[in-house]
This record gives sequence, C-alpha cells and structure tokens, in this order.
Amino acid sequence: MNDYQKMADLLLQSRYAVALTGAGISVESGIPDFRSEKGLWSKYDPMEYGHIDSFRSNPAKVWKMLLEMDSVLMKAVPNSAHYALADLERRGILKAIVTQNVDSLHQKAGSLNVIEFHGNNRSLRCGRCSRKYARESVSFEKIPPLCACGYPLRPEFVFFGEEIPPDAYQKAMTSVQRCDLMLVVGTSATVAPASYLPRTAKSRGAILLEVNPAATELSHRMSDLHIAESAGKALPAIVAALDASSPKQRKNV
Ligand SMILES: [Zn+2]
Repeated sequence: MNDYQKMADLLLQSRYAVALTGAGISVESGIPDFRSEKGLWSKYDPMEYGHIDSFRSNPAKVWKMLLEMDSVLMKAVPNSAHYALADLERRGILKAIVTQNVDSLHQKAGSLNVIEFHGNNRSLRCGRCSRKYARESVSFEKIPPLCACGYPLRPEFVFFGEEIPPDAYQKAMTSVQRCDLMLVVGTSATVAPASYLPRTAKSRGAILLEVNPAATELSHRMSDLHIAESAGKALPAIVAALDASSPKQRKNV
C-alpha cells in the first residue's frame, strides 16, 4: 500500500480530522513563501517592515510593502491542494482548517470552517477607532489609506510583535484538542504559537500526517507519516485514494 492510500485510510478512519496549513500550500498559487528566496522578506526586512512598531511609527513606509503584498495576494487563485481540502470537508472527513495564511484561498476554494490564525486580507481596520472596511471599498491612491476619523488603516492580519487574535486562537485550540488526526500541509510549524498546535494534537494522542516537500522537524520527531511532495500534487492524490479505499476502511458507510 502506498503512502497516499495509507493517508486516505487514516482519514477515513478518523473521527475528527483537522488540517493545519501554511505558506507552502499557496506557493503553487503564485504566492512565494515570504521567508523564501523569492519571498517578500528577502526584499523587505521583516523587522523593519513587518513589525507593528514600524507600522505605528511610519505607516506610509510599511504600506509600501503592504501594497506589494496585496497585489501578490489579490492575483492568486486556489490550487488543487486548496480544492482537495474543501473536498475533504464536503465529504464530512475534515472538520476544520487552521491556516497561518492570510490569502483567503481556502475560502475561495469552498472551505467553510477556516480558522485564520494570523488574520486575513479581506478587510482593513482603523488602528484608533477599530472601524472595519472591506478591502474593495478602500482607495489606495494615497498611502497610507485613512479611516473616516483620519487615522491610518491597517490590514486585518497580524504583524510581528502582535498577539494571535484571541477568537482565532481559542477556536484553533478547541479544534486541535478535539482532533484525533491532524494533517499538516505546507508548514514546518516551527514558529510559535502555531508550533504548539501539532504538538498539542500529538500529545493528546492524535495521528499526525504531514505533506511537505522537504523533511521538517515535525517529520523527524512527530509525524506518523510524511509525504515529501508538493501540496498540489499530494492532496489530490490522497483524495483520489479515498475512493479506492476498501469499504471496510469506510467507518461512516
Ligand atoms: Zn478610525
């Protein structure tokens, strides 16, 4: 039995499967991992452009980087990995996706229960009065864009130096504590606090499945099964293997 089939069978046998996704799942959608060679952080120093203190002291400067990020994110469309996870949810297998991405591609692919650990790119918020604006409603002709109250707007995602939104953190922890299988896709999950999620799942007895092109600390220490392949190739293959599973593997049939 190949590893795709093994993962498919484990997913079918699971009671409450949760996916944890990161930058790697969106690379095939045209969004280079910010930390990679072609990524945003090779051009902009993350501490100078990505930290909340930098935004507060010079929002116009940080907005220069944000506009570039925005144009990359807005051009991106979901790839076969995003669609495969949406398919797993429709089949009743996957109960939630916890994503570290802010690109909204899971939702665009049709996933419903998406917990955005680092916020999202769909809206902007005033740093003073907290008024929210849909991204489409904001003009970027003048940088930084301003709230009606005159204060600079910020994206609804987490800067370095900021806490995970409490609501997202709570939901993520709840689903992770409940899961009996975690599918880690496109992330090495080494950055805290996202790194706690697979560790928490594993310590509570969940099976850890990993899809990452290269081995990570997780593959060495924690993953029960690691497929060293891109998400766009591996996830559709896992979904295809579900249909090939023998009926006895299908607990819910
Ligand atoms: Zn305001």
